[in-house]
Amino acid sequence: MTQTLEARSLAAVWHPCTQMKRHESAPPIAIERASGPWLYGTDGRRYLDGISSWWVNLFGHSHPHIRAALADQMERLDHVMLAGFTHAPVVELSERLSALTGLGHAFYGSDGASATEIALKMSAHYWRNQGRSGKNRFVGLAGGYHGETVGALAVTDIALFREAYAPLVRLSDTVPSPDARQALPGETAADVARRAAKGLEQWLQAHHNQTAALIVEPLVQCAAGMAMHDAEYLRLARLLCDHYEVHLVVDEIAVGFGRTGSLFAHQQAGIQPDFICLSKGLTGGTLPLSAVLTTDTVYAAFYDDDVARGFLHSHSYTGNPLACRAAVATLELFEQLDALTANRQLAQRVSTAFAPLSAHPRVRHARQQGMIWAWDIDSSLPDFSRRYHAAAMERGLLLRPIGHTLYCMPPYVLDDEAVAHLGRMALEALEATLLQESEPLTQEVTA
Ligand SMILES: *Cc1c(COP(=O)(O)O)cnc(C)c1O
Repeated sequence: MTQTLEARSLAAVWHPCTQMKRHESAPPIAIERASGPWLYGTDGRRYLDGISSWWVNLFGHSHPHIRAALADQMERLDHVMLAGFTHAPVVELSERLSALTGLGHAFYGSDGASATEIALKMSAHYWRNQGRSGKNRFVGLAGGYHGETVGALAVTDIALFREAYAPLVRLSDTVPSPDARQALPGETAADVARRAAKGLEQWLQAHHNQTAALIVEPLVQCAAGMAMHDAEYLRLARLLCDHYEVHLVVDEIAVGFGRTGSLFAHQQAGIQPDFICLSKGLTGGTLPLSAVLTTDTVYAAFYDDDVARGFLHSHSYTGNPLACRAAVATLELFEQLDALTANRQLAQRVSTAFAPLSAHPRVRHARQQGMIWAWDIDSSLPDFSRRYHAAAMERGLLLRPIGHTLYCMPPYVLDDEAVAHLGRMALEALEATLLQESEPLTQEVTA
């Protein structure tokens, strides 16, 4: 008896962020290969990857340069533990990340959530090593997302993700988001940022003695529904963190590596954070890897004859050579392709293709930052997200709205055909979804 891959998957695999019962009506789609921005299904159909496979892909799937680097690395060294050993890919990657950010002492994990945990632990341990162990709490922004492991959930302010686990989590406080959509009539995005910074100031005034760090997603709170803010917020947050002696952690896991137009989002504010968390695009979307970079000051506070003052944290695959080599190859592509410049031109072409969607009468807050586009859809469908996703997939386009926010975060390699497909099918899928408003409702989904 031959079963489809979809049926075998449902029997053997627990899919992420998914109510599995959902798959009774819409089974997962089996993909057999991918190339550039296209995913190819076992059903012979192709789908344009409009969300870069959960925001990880940068230069298209199976890029020949990354593929060649990985094949070469596999011939030399697959893996060696990083405690007590080192290797060329991890050294080269760390040197490059340091040169690009001005921070250093790269510490590696495998996923974004582990980068969050590393940064939070390092920050609190820094204060402890300074004799200020009372500074062990964290603060994040309303709607912030920093991963879903128990430590990362503490600073993730998305109710659906933490409701069931709240008893396990030492919840952090949240301060107002600088989300520019909150602008009152006559207010600019910078005004909203200043208003939110006032909220941060009041909070820090009261709690700085217990607070190790503020963690923010610079410029775009992606999981909140692509909530964008003015760089002014980051400048003010930096000043306030300095004043109140609180670390500033920038979570660039989603927005790093050119996504917002600059290599790193916080660079648009001209600030230097105390910690940077990286993952997702770090390996161009090929292998799991995350990194945390910090200042010489933080590093120095751990440097001691006493073992217990060291940063005692590890993962089995910390600094995996294959993943690091993929990351080096990805950084090489930024140079070879002059990707930030190329993206500015590409973003204009994509914005032009999206112009009819942005002008649609049901669209609110059409917005763009670098290679991220988002639109809030005024629809009575509680399950808009699921229906839109299905309508887009029928049209060969992978998009997954967050609630009523439709967004696109494509790979940086789109030819004219792909750009046209994106613009046309995103709009057609919207019209097809809105036509269903008169049909009976089904249950709501998020994520
Ligand atoms: C995706 C994401 C994370 C978590 O990364 P995982 O690899 O999924 O654990 C953390 N922070 C931000 C901003 C993210 O977008």
